[in-house]
Amino acid sequence: MHHDTVTLDSQAKTLFEQYKDQALTNKQRLAVPVQEMPAQDPDVRRDNMEEVALGYTEAQVLIESIRCLQCANAPCVAGCPVRIDIPRFIAKAALGDFAGSIGVIKEASMLPSVCGRVCPQETQCQQTCTVGRVHKDIDKAVSIGRIERFVADWEASQGKRSVPEVGQSTGKKVGVVGSGPASMTAAADLRRAGHEVVMFEALHKCGGVLVYGIPEFRLPKRIVQEEIDTLVSMGVKIEQNFLVGRTATIDELMTRDGFDALFIGSGAGLPNFLNIPGENLVGVFSANEYLTRSNLMRAYDKAKAGTPLFDSKRVLVFGGGNVAMDAARTAVRLGAEEVSIVYRRTATEMPARREEVAHAHEEGVLFKYLHAPKEIIGNEKGKVEGVRIVLCQLGEPDASGRRSPVEIPGSDIVLACDTVIVAIGNSSNPLIEKTTKGLQVDRKGHIVVDEDTCATSIPGVYAGGDIVLGSATVILAMGQGRKAAKAMNEYLSDREHRGGSAS
Ligand code: FAD
Ligand code: SF4
Ligand code: SF4
Repeated sequence: MHHDTVTLDSQAKTLFEQYKDQALTNKQRLAVPVQEMPAQDPDVRRDNMEEVALGYTEAQVLIESIRCLQCANAPCVAGCPVRIDIPRFIAKAALGDFAGSIGVIKEASMLPSVCGRVCPQETQCQQTCTVGRVHKDIDKAVSIGRIERFVADWEASQGKRSVPEVGQSTGKKVGVVGSGPASMTAAADLRRAGHEVVMFEALHKCGGVLVYGIPEFRLPKRIVQEEIDTLVSMGVKIEQNFLVGRTATIDELMTRDGFDALFIGSGAGLPNFLNIPGENLVGVFSANEYLTRSNLMRAYDKAKAGTPLFDSKRVLVFGGGNVAMDAARTAVRLGAEEVSIVYRRTATEMPARREEVAHAHEEGVLFKYLHAPKEIIGNEKGKVEGVRIVLCQLGEPDASGRRSPVEIPGSDIVLACDTVIVAIGNSSNPLIEKTTKGLQVDRKGHIVVDEDTCATSIPGVYAGGDIVLGSATVILAMGQGRKAAKAMNEYLSDREHRGGSAS
């Protein structure tokens, strides 16, 4: 962590000195300025994969924490999908009790160093923060995520990361499919209850989207690896390169291999395409492929790359979510000269986190709003050389509540490029659905579960995360992993009392 980049605002410093001895009034707290996140210089970070946001200094976290009004009704808590006791963890941080603060967070969340970095706070906990409301400016809400990140990183920096206690062995064997945030959370909670837990991951590395999707410059891989190491220390067994549905089916695991229950957290890894002409040309990538190559095969590291780099000069990225921002900012780092986001609506409707959009702007990414791609144009060698675009205007709100793009007839233009990255969302991979008799899915291929327990249509089989919700968020996936594990623990103990067999 870099402590040398910050000069404290003198007014905030004075207030902090006062706080140590006496209670501050709300008026005084509201006068404390938001602490900005120190970040790598945009001109420097364009050329490296290191983390962009550097984390608060200790002085900053103390000051940001005294901005919290400790509201009795704490509206921020309702905005957090796992209901972290936000005022309580911030009150401890404000007193410099970082160990106490992280303890409060860990009562509800297993991955605070991840969520502090990647949660879309402006639509979750910080959206409802009273301070932001009083200032009528969401950017002035208490920076809950940044404080959370600080105390989680502080714990890691102390070298005494706690390993959750594991209960007495129950003799039950539970399988967890996938190793993303849903499965990591479920595995921890199931193991804590004393079951034998085996995690099956299709890839050679665990962590799900946290390792192969979200780039290093936003979420360092070592943080995810530490969480996986914690699971291993708890006794969770990990089977990598194990594709459930092919290496073994759900049915085989349950009947032949003696699993008493299974959790499916296989995510939404199948990229969507626009189905426009030219999507099979050389130079067209799904964001998944592009980011996976960069993340897992070190395509960004020219000296050590396990896969050749695609040498791009002008890149167009279709989409306006986090995935599109990650792909565009990765392309910048891979050396592209011009990278543009092509989005059918405007900045207001864009679903990406505000911070990522701001960082993309700073790094020189261009934004082409109200642009709808219609056709990818190739040259005689089958390589991309441009995209035909129709310009749009905003119409009435659609089912998502966002105003929909309406194409303007005859407004076609062609944008030149040599690379197209399609980042318009993901669907679930149908392998498990196709190989599991009796597993109920909806028309989009999402597994249908009981809202309260995450139980699927097959007894003993539970599911959660993106495979149920569609492309969602890390914290929602975690929340489902936790909910499912609780129900699975109850299911397994019920069976024990009723004398159900373990195989
Ligand atoms: P995943 O993380 O997708 O993990 C599923 C795992 O299951 C994978 O490792 C996969 O290999 C494995 N698997 C799949 N099928 C099988 C099988 N048959 N057998 C064995 N293993 C299997 N969310 C945020 O909150 N903030 C962000 O900033 C953010 N940015 C994102 C950026 C990108 C590029 C992407 C792609 C997503 C982003 N998300 C973000 C969304 C978030 O990452 C997901 O919602 C979350 O990871 C879903 O967790 P999960 O556990 O359900 O699945
Ligand atoms: Fe906010 Fe996410 Fe932390 Fe909840 S887990 S308090 S939503 S940053
Ligand atoms: Fe603090 Fe904002 Fe939550 Fe109120 S709403 S307790 S000010 S973080």
